[in-house]
Amino acid sequence: MQKQILTILGATGSIGVSTLDVVARHPERFEIFALSGNSQIQRLAEQCRQFAPRFAVVAGDSEAQALRKLLGAGSATEVLHGAAALDDVAAAADVTTVMAAIVGAAGLSSSLAAARAGKRLLLANKEALVMAGEVFINAVRDGGATLLPIDSEHNAIFQSLPAGFDYGLQHCGVRRIVLTASGGPFRLTPLQQLAAMTPDQACAHPNWVMGRKISVDSATMMNKGLEIIEARWLFGVEASRISVLIHPESVIHSMVDYVDGSVMAQLGNPDMRTPIAYALSYPERIDSGVSGLDLCRVGRLTFEEPDLQRFPCLELAYEALRIGHSAPTTLNAANEVAVAAFLEGELRFDQIAQVVAEVLENLPAHRLSDLGAVMEADKEARAGARAAVASIAQPMVSSLATTRS
Ligand code: NAD
Ligand code: MG
Repeated sequence: MQKQILTILGATGSIGVSTLDVVARHPERFEIFALSGNSQIQRLAEQCRQFAPRFAVVAGDSEAQALRKLLGAGSATEVLHGAAALDDVAAAADVTTVMAAIVGAAGLSSSLAAARAGKRLLLANKEALVMAGEVFINAVRDGGATLLPIDSEHNAIFQSLPAGFDYGLQHCGVRRIVLTASGGPFRLTPLQQLAAMTPDQACAHPNWVMGRKISVDSATMMNKGLEIIEARWLFGVEASRISVLIHPESVIHSMVDYVDGSVMAQLGNPDMRTPIAYALSYPERIDSGVSGLDLCRVGRLTFEEPDLQRFPCLELAYEALRIGHSAPTTLNAANEVAVAAFLEGELRFDQIAQVVAEVLENLPAHRLSDLGAVMEADKEARAGARAAVASIAQPMVSSLATTRS
């Protein structure tokens, strides 16, 4: 067995930590080439001590100096900083496998670098695929990369498809793909209370422990919306053949519905180490540290239709996919800005969808031929979203002021 040499982008995050947990169980299979982290320098230092990567990449010069100090002079790890260094460690000749687990658009460039360099690319960073769509898939194809989905739903679909399928379901007898969704922390919250939900309430997911951005996306169900777009590109299937089913227990991670009436699903305890281990070892299977599923203990598996009044972001994502071109890029960028504003206390929970809808409506979609065009569309949508946040947040501040006076 040839060892895989790994770069983990976003090593200090939820997916990064789970990846290192699986890697540590199989020292004979994996070696770490590089780890990256943005701001959690202490955690990155501990990871460097344990895994002795050749490189560690951080955001800026001050973080680099802090990490060097923590590691000490004798460390075998060279500390780099900046976005270009992320691209370098993703594409380095020695690297076989890249885990792309940076959150948001910040992860696009390094994910693309890994794709172009023909790596085995484990993609957790769904935003990269949503914003760059066809440009991303073309880079994977042209670079000869192997793209393996980490998102639990897409990993489940990948496991439920026939072996050897090649990013296109036309010939596989697939009727539709069913993405399951937990419904998040506000599935049963009375609608009139949603406006008052705080960032901590939105981040308290019932089944999964995740980073704050994806946790908020789960609460609005924009996460499922992004996943619909992700599925469109990963599996080459049109929007009309992707449906969403609420399944609060998060045991069935997604399903493939075939024309002969068969439905293939992947089940398991909700723990990201399962899809991570599958992608790391594919086509083999290795121990992930996740305990076996005890269905008697789970007891019941339940299902319901998503309520679009409660989750307008889901409808917005379908709409962006129907419009196509730059609309998913706009959706993703506006959502990132709106979620950040919500986490900062500048926007109410229900206003996230309002910002995204406004930006989607105001910016006409246009064709994206290359990465430059993607970045331009992203930039324009962010500016539009910041303006929308400012105008929506304004009345909130003044109404507060009025109440106080
Ligand atoms: P997280 O917030 O826990 O971690 C994010 C990582 O990205 C951290 O290592 C952070 O240092 C790094 N990072 C953040 N901003 C950066 C920047 N500007 N430049 C460079 N690095 C930066 O997030 P997470 O929950 O681990 O999610 C990571 C990705 O995986 C997201 O795209 C998310 O949608 C996807 N994902 C996560 C889960 C999950 O269970 N956590 C499941 C499916 C998909
Ligand atoms: Mg998911």
